[in-house]
This record gives sequence, structure tokens and C-alpha cells, in this order.
Amino acid sequence: MKVAAVIVDVPTRQTDRPFDYLIPERWRGVIQPGMRVTVPFGARRLQGFVVDVKDHSEIESLKAIEEVLDVVPVLNGELLDLGRHLTETTLCFAISAYQAMLPAAMRAKYEKVLRLAEEERRGELPDELKSLFAGRTEVAWNEVEAAGLWRAAQKAVQQGVLEAVYNVKDKAGKKMVKSAALAVSAEQAEQALHSLPARQKEAVSFLLKRGEAVPIAKLQATLGISSAPLKALVEKGLVVVRDVEVYRDPYAHRTFQPSEPLALTPAQAQALAKITASVRAGEHRTFLLYGVTGSGKTEVYMQAIEEVLRQGKEAIVLVPEISLTPQMVERFKSRFGPKVAVLHSGLSVGEKYDEWRKIHRKEVQLVVGARSAVFAPFENLGMIIIDEEHETSYKQEEMPRYHARDVAIYRARRHGCPVVLGSATPSLETFARAAKGVYELLELPERVADRALPDVHVVDMREELRSGNRSMFSRRLLDELRLRLDRGEQAVLFLNRRGYSTFVMCRSCGYVVRCPHCDISLTYHRAGERMKCHYCGHEEPLVPRCPSCGGEHLRFFGTGTQKVEEELAKLLPKARVIRMDVDTTGRKGAHEELLSRFAAKEADILLGTQMIAKGLDFPDVTLVGVLAADTMLHLPDFRAAEKTFQLLTQVSGRAGRHELPGQVVIQTYTPDHYSIQLAARHDYRSFYRREMALRKAHGYPPYYYLTLITAAHQEAPAAAKAAEKIAGYLRKQLSNEAIILGPVASPLARLHDRYRYQCMIKYKREPNLSAALKAVIDRYQTDAAHGGVTITVDMNPYMMM
Ligand code: ADP
Ligand code: ZN
Repeated sequence: MKVAAVIVDVPTRQTDRPFDYLIPERWRGVIQPGMRVTVPFGARRLQGFVVDVKDHSEIESLKAIEEVLDVVPVLNGELLDLGRHLTETTLCFAISAYQAMLPAAMRAKYEKVLRLAEEERRGELPDELKSLFAGRTEVAWNEVEAAGLWRAAQKAVQQGVLEAVYNVKDKAGKKMVKSAALAVSAEQAEQALHSLPARQKEAVSFLLKRGEAVPIAKLQATLGISSAPLKALVEKGLVVVRDVEVYRDPYAHRTFQPSEPLALTPAQAQALAKITASVRAGEHRTFLLYGVTGSGKTEVYMQAIEEVLRQGKEAIVLVPEISLTPQMVERFKSRFGPKVAVLHSGLSVGEKYDEWRKIHRKEVQLVVGARSAVFAPFENLGMIIIDEEHETSYKQEEMPRYHARDVAIYRARRHGCPVVLGSATPSLETFARAAKGVYELLELPERVADRALPDVHVVDMREELRSGNRSMFSRRLLDELRLRLDRGEQAVLFLNRRGYSTFVMCRSCGYVVRCPHCDISLTYHRAGERMKCHYCGHEEPLVPRCPSCGGEHLRFFGTGTQKVEEELAKLLPKARVIRMDVDTTGRKGAHEELLSRFAAKEADILLGTQMIAKGLDFPDVTLVGVLAADTMLHLPDFRAAEKTFQLLTQVSGRAGRHELPGQVVIQTYTPDHYSIQLAARHDYRSFYRREMALRKAHGYPPYYYLTLITAAHQEAPAAAKAAEKIAGYLRKQLSNEAIILGPVASPLARLHDRYRYQCMIKYKREPNLSAALKAVIDRYQTDAAHGGVTITVDMNPYMMM
């Protein structure tokens, strides 16, 4: 096998195919599909993925592979195939698909580094460079440039004291720790013991007992010895010191109480039996585990996983990023201990890389993680679980625009294993499939231990205003909060900020401060008195006067958590409040710390945004308040009602999960809306029927498929014209049954200084669609006449903006 087919790191349509390269003699038999290599491409050197090795190529004179980046494949055959599948179903480039499967640390960038020559010549280095290197053997080229040492470095390279190297460098290397290990066999060490002084003896005995390398710092701390005895042992040839790789375990400082499986309720047992039967039979099935909040879905997942592990297989559990709380992690860690790897965005790049490698090296059998954990490189999968399957965060909003549910089903089919989708409020798409028998419906209709679903009270805020209450708290909610304070119980207050952030408006002229690059209003942040754009990060100080009319009556509109906190302090001065939002949880570990303080009852009220809506489970929370239920209802999105229903149900589900009964107060300006009414009654099925009827009437999923095409350009007319042309072309290519809407200006009409126009395609069956869309993408990438227009195609859009 002397030819490798390589997908190179150039994300364009023209390069979206394998290119053949010669495998140099020394790497024949070494290079395998799924390894990363460096190859020459035109004038450049690029990283790429080997997707195939073969004997011949149609190309006559092949260029050779220059470097091999992996010792073993990082993508297995199944994942390579999955990548191809994603290029077809999401119209992404193969390179984007493969990169999405690996941790960010491995998405290497080319880095030019200067490397020190061998030891004996280092003395020749000029002092200024010596201090730059300061104990390192490599320094990045741009660091040298930034230090103004370009000339000195060039000279050193010419003299051969430095070497210029193009490194494809991992962003986070492995973490190595100096460790001590025995240099001789255990027997020889035993024999040597007698003749050693006390401290050296202790050290050798310790190493004998551990039977593996021990970090030096740990050895010294445990035995209370200095470095001298170790040095002596090294000189005697009994001990060696070497760098040993350690994993940066984010939970290393935590201890987990082991937990035992619970005795299941009959409904849980029934659901579990169906799932484990499919695990044992090794057949692919998709189950929908539809269970109300607090019905014990997680316990079912965990017992099903036990069965998978008993079969010697592996499992993936996906949870939405925001419900990947320390509580959730703890439940799995307590049950499965060191068999679990956890992947979530709170980890540093290096920590994620460590967790990924535990999977890759088969050191763990279970991974719990957010969306991208669906690509965990297991080779013997026994089950994939997607908790809160209705969450839109399972859809990735950049290339590859995949939905984790589709990827899970693809992989499970390959492995002959079940997929379990769990939710108290399944997405309409999923429930419809279960209703048709495509998925198998498993139901947990009641909370465990006869606990009741909470009592929900809807408050009409217009009525409050009419009777003179101008506060953001209704009288009812305030009364309930006081009651909790009296009883020593806890409350959760939820403020949904999506589409409802604190903007600044001039009361005289109506001017709203907007982002100069994006078509949205800026959000006011009390900290530092600044205005920030939540899309592009643009920031400016708050102005004292209206930039438009010069008036002094600038006012904050909308309600932020800070404002709620201030008002709470006025209304209930004795209440201890913990606020959780982007401002208070930015620091690493802050999220966990705030929650554990609330769990320890250091506060009476937990006030927060979306991030507190899910997964939290505190025994003393008996009240949940929703400050403004309708903030999402008016978004330009056909799923607005569904999202509102889901969110209200989830939030309500935080109340009364244990012995104490729960109470929920929902404040709203549209109390009659069906999504609010039915959420208050915990009536999913009625909501489902009503919403399905609307989707059918308006031609939306699950009755139709959607594809959203967005054209963006710095000049509005250019974007509009491109969208126009695309719509015209697609009308010719697709059948009469396809409905092509638009083009229209996108709801978010400008983003990052670019104007945006969109077309929406609604269809049931369009065999031609994929080819037509590829042609569109091709055209706009290659044709210079369209200069500057960027096209994005989303085959299954969840963001309608
Ligand atoms: P869900 O995921 O459906 O919202 P959970 O799995 O979080 O529900 O369960 C809610 C609570 O009930 C948890 O505290 C859990 O430990 C407890 N629980 C689950 N199953 C049982 C059971 N069979 N017996 C007793 N308690 C249970
Ligand atoms: Zn902006």
C-alpha cells in the first residue's frame, strides 16, 4: 500500500474530495485511515486526514506525505463513514465533519517555531534570546517577532544555534509531571532495602508498594522527605525520574459517595425491560422515554447503562450543556466512578483533550457530555441516550450543521444498539414519530413516590398594573415568597432573557441604542456601566445623553437579573439571594460553587436565567416563580409556542421534587395563550394535538421539512440580488410541490456588518434538492462575479433568525 487518499484542511467545495499522496517507504504499513498527516498542497503545507490507503493512483507523479501526526488512527472506520454521511445530509465539507469529531486541542494550527539546537551549542545564543527562551526548547515565531528579536533570531538560525521549524502544534499538549519509579526489578529493590538509610528506605518501600511511577511532589509530601534521598537513590541507580503523563481531572478534588441502584417503580421497570432487551439482542431501536419531570428517567438510564457495561459494551449519554450541572455529573460519577468521562464546555481545552483520550484509549466505558460527545470514539457501543431530547442545543449552528439525534441514530444502526430519547416535553418531531410507531414509546406518567406535580398558578400582569402594582412581582408571587421565608423553605426565580434583554431607550424621542455592526439593540451591563452586543461582542460605555436628540431621559427597558435582585432587596430585605447569570458564572467553577451554596441553604432564593431551568434537584425548593413567561412567545420562529411550553414545564418541574409539595407562579401578559394554559395544567398531549394542527395548517415540521438559505453581503442590494437568483434557480430545479418562500430580509437583518437575506424551502420529498443546493454553493464559491456574497445552507434549521 503506497498511496494514501487525504482530505486536506481547505474548507471549500473545490477541495472537498480526497487527494492522493505517495506514502514514503518508511511509513508503508504504518499509515492507516483515520490518521492525521501533513502534506504539500500547492505552495502550502497542510494538515489532512487519511481516509484510505491503496496500491495505485490514477495520478502519475504523486507528491509525498511529509509528516505523520498520529501514532494510531484518531478516527475509526465508523467515524470516517459518518463523516461522509454528514457531508451528504448537512452539505458540509468532509474536513469540517472530521474536525468536529475531535477535541479542539487536536484541531492543530500551523505554527512556526524556533527550536534550540543541541545542548552544547546553547551557550552561543545571544543573551536577549536566552532570556526569551528561558528554559524552553521551542518558542513560537510570532513571540520572537513581538519581542523585536527578529534579526537576532535570523542570525542565530544562520549560525545554526537555532532551527526554524514548521510545527503543526496541538493547542494543548499533554500534561507531564516529573515522577519517580523503580529503576530495578522489585526483587532487586527488596534486596537493596537493608543497606539503605531510613529515608531512602521509606521511599523505595513506598514505590514498591505502589508498583508504578509516583509524582515526585506527591512522594515527598506523603513521606515528608526532601529531594535529597531521591537524588541519592537516582545516583545509586535504584530509582529513575521521568516525565509521566497525567490527566487533568476536573473532578479530582471531589469525592463522590457511591450510589446503589434504586428499586424501580413498575413504570420504570417496564421501560427498563424494553431497553435492556434491545441491548441484549444487539438490535437497533429508537425509544422515546416520555416521562414527566421527576418521574425517574435518570434512574432508568443508569440501570440500562449497567446492563450495557455488563455486556462489555460502551454507552454515551448526551445532556444539554446547561443541564450538565455538577449535580448531574455527580449522579453518574457516584454510580459509575472511574468508568465515566465527562465532556462539557466548562472544561479547558486541555481537560477536554484528556477526557477524550481516556475514551480513545478505552480507559472509560461511559461518556456523559454535551452535543459533540456523540462522536466519542467508542468501538463497541451498546447504547446512546439523549436526555432532554427536545433541546435545540443538540443542533449545531455552524458547519457541520448536524443534529445529535440524527448522528446518534446513524451510529446506533451501525453498532446494532438502541437509542433512548428522554423528555418530559418531547419535540413535536419526535413525538410524532413515536405516534406513528417509528420510535417505540415508553411512558413514565407519574412522579416517583406518589409525589404530585406542582400546583401552577398563572398571574395576569396586565391585571396587576390595572390595580396599581407597578412592580415586576405580582402580589401572589410576593406572598408566596414571604411564606417560604417564614417556613425556611427555598424558592427559585426564573427570568427568561432571550429576546428580552435590558436595552436602553430615550423616553423623549424613542431612540434605542443599537450595535453598529449587527441589527440588534445593545444590552446594558451594570458592571462598568457598559453596553454590549450579545452577537458580536461590540462594547461601548453608557452615554449620559441621547445620541439622537440630546435628551437626558435615557431609560432601561426590559428586566435583567440584576434589576430583579435590586428590587428583591427592597421588597424582601431579609431574603438571601444567589444570582446566577452570565455575569456571575463567568469564572471557572463559579457555577458549581453557587449551586452548592444554595444546596447548603446559604440562600433562600436562587435567581437566574435559562441556566437554572434544567436538571436542578433541591429537596427544599417548594416555590418556582417565572417572572415573564411570554418573552419567547413573540420571537419570529414557528417553534415559539413549543419552546414556551417546554420551558415552562421544565421550570415548573424544579418545584416539589421531594417530600415537600411544590407551588409554581407564572407571571404573564398573555395568560390565555394555549402554551401557557396547557403548561400550567401539565397537559402535554393537548399541547401536542393543538400545535400539530397549527403546523399542518401552516406547512411546518413535522409535516414538512425545511431548508433555510441565507445570503450575506456588506451591501444590502448585493445580498438581496443573490438571494433572488438562488430562489429563482431553485424554483426551476425543484418539483411543484416544494414551496419556496422569499427572499426576505432575515429577522436579524444585519450581523457583523453584513446584510442578510433568506429563502425558506418547505418540502416533503425532493430527490433533487441536495444536488441543487450543492450547485448553489459551488457557484457562489467559484464565481468571482458574486464576490463577497456568502451563502449558508441549513438543512434542518432551528434558528430562524
Ligand atoms: P427525571 O429525570 O425524570 O426528572 P429523576 O431521575 O431526576 O427524574 O428522579 C427524580 C427523583 O426521584 C430523584 O431524586 C431520584 O433519585 C428519585 N428516584 C428516581 N427513581 C426512583 C425510585 N425508583 N425510587 C425512589 N426514588 C427514585
Ligand atoms: Zn454586534
